[in-house]
Amino acid sequence: MSVVVQAIWEDFLKVVHEEVGSRVVETWFKAVVLLRWDAHHKVVYLQVPNSFVKEWLSTHYVPLFESHLGRLLNEKTVHVSFSIAREVPTVQRVETPITVAVSPASSVPLYRPARPMGRSVEAEKHAGHVTNLYQFDTFVVGPSNSLAYAAAIAVAQKPGGVYNPFFMYGGSGLGKTHLLHAIGNKIKETSSHIRVLYQSADRFVQEFIYAIRNNKMLQFEAKYKNIDVLLVDDIQFIANKEQTQEAFFHIFNALHQAGKQIVFTSDSMPHDIAGLAERMRSRLEWGLVADIHLPTLETRMAIVHKKALLHHEELSDEVAHYIASRSINNIRELEGALIRVIACASLAREPISIALAQKVLGEVPEKKQRQVDFQRIAGIVGKYFNYTVKELRAAQRNKEIALARHIALYFMKKLTDKSLREIGAFLGRKDHSTVLHACEKIEQARNKDESFNRTIQHIEADILKE
Ligand code: ADP
Ligand code: MG
Repeated sequence: MSVVVQAIWEDFLKVVHEEVGSRVVETWFKAVVLLRWDAHHKVVYLQVPNSFVKEWLSTHYVPLFESHLGRLLNEKTVHVSFSIAREVPTVQRVETPITVAVSPASSVPLYRPARPMGRSVEAEKHAGHVTNLYQFDTFVVGPSNSLAYAAAIAVAQKPGGVYNPFFMYGGSGLGKTHLLHAIGNKIKETSSHIRVLYQSADRFVQEFIYAIRNNKMLQFEAKYKNIDVLLVDDIQFIANKEQTQEAFFHIFNALHQAGKQIVFTSDSMPHDIAGLAERMRSRLEWGLVADIHLPTLETRMAIVHKKALLHHEELSDEVAHYIASRSINNIRELEGALIRVIACASLAREPISIALAQKVLGEVPEKKQRQVDFQRIAGIVGKYFNYTVKELRAAQRNKEIALARHIALYFMKKLTDKSLREIGAFLGRKDHSTVLHACEKIEQARNKDESFNRTIQHIEADILKE
């Protein structure tokens, strides 16, 4: 590898380190070797230690490779190709490199996603279409989700039937998006002619804004009115967007009257979503409303077992119990913990034992689980701008303190599970739409201004520091 390419790789690791943290770098990127850069075909060839790492990197980090390597190599688009290192040179052949498509979303991109990198991977994965990652048979049913599950199955068997619309709500990481995609997958599997569209509400909002600005309302409406099943994820993001609600209202009516199925997910029940027009709220409640709770330990253990099997690993009950009893907030965290254990075992070529799980999960407190509260966020953001927490919370207004406040609001929304109302209240803002507005402004500024983006990254790293 040339010195230049080596330097680029090192730069890349530094950037990734800043973006996703040392744990992810240690687990996934450290063992990756940049083999070569094919400038003609714009392909970066990477070598990974095993198929597990390859699969994980291909499903989760391709956009990250693409954007940063592209920037560092000064190319608009680059592709990455993973190959697995030979473990025993004479027996196994090097696997043929698989090129992962990294071109921008294949459907017409209506806008550039306004999200920070770490999240955009997740969001992009689901953009506009149903992902087959999430199926009914990989969903573990327990008392916490049985109603939502049963209703989802009923909807998938008879779209447009009695549960229309079907509205699921519950905390973050409890399986709402999973069930939503499972419905879509099941319907597509049984009746391939049925047109299914998955869309997150914030994407819907952005598409709508784009359509308005560019005179594309007809196309926009046609896109939504021409489908048979509409799956809308996180409908709460439509709150306070009056015009979008209006447009959505018409789409809803048209689809519903035509007997088309609509499914919603949300973080709270329709009644509790503030900033929703009354007629919109009542529509959301028309059909069946089902909630999803935090699963019991038993269900969490079953989930750990099932997820491990998806990665071709069989765990002992002891290990499953250990992992399930540590991650109690949501299933996303649970999955993250499991994946780290599997990855470390695979990298260290050790069997998965309770000792290994303890080493991986026990010693170092998990970064994501770091409890950040309003006080901490306000303290760190305040320090950065030379304001006390008291000043940030006071009514005083000037441009500079407004920016500091916006940043604080942004992190409170991003890094805690608190409601917009609680966040607004902490900073003395009665109207919680201020919070959303602040978040949007920060997101936009991050996308436009690289140095601002870095500042935000630094502050975030500080907040999450142990
Ligand atoms: P939400 O949309 O509610 O925030 P997701 O549907 O994205 O949560 O779920 C987060 C992760 O947890 C996903 O990987 C999903 O597969 C997994 N998950 C959640 N609940 C279950 C369950 N009951 N069985 C299996 N996996 C689950
Ligand atoms: Mg979700």
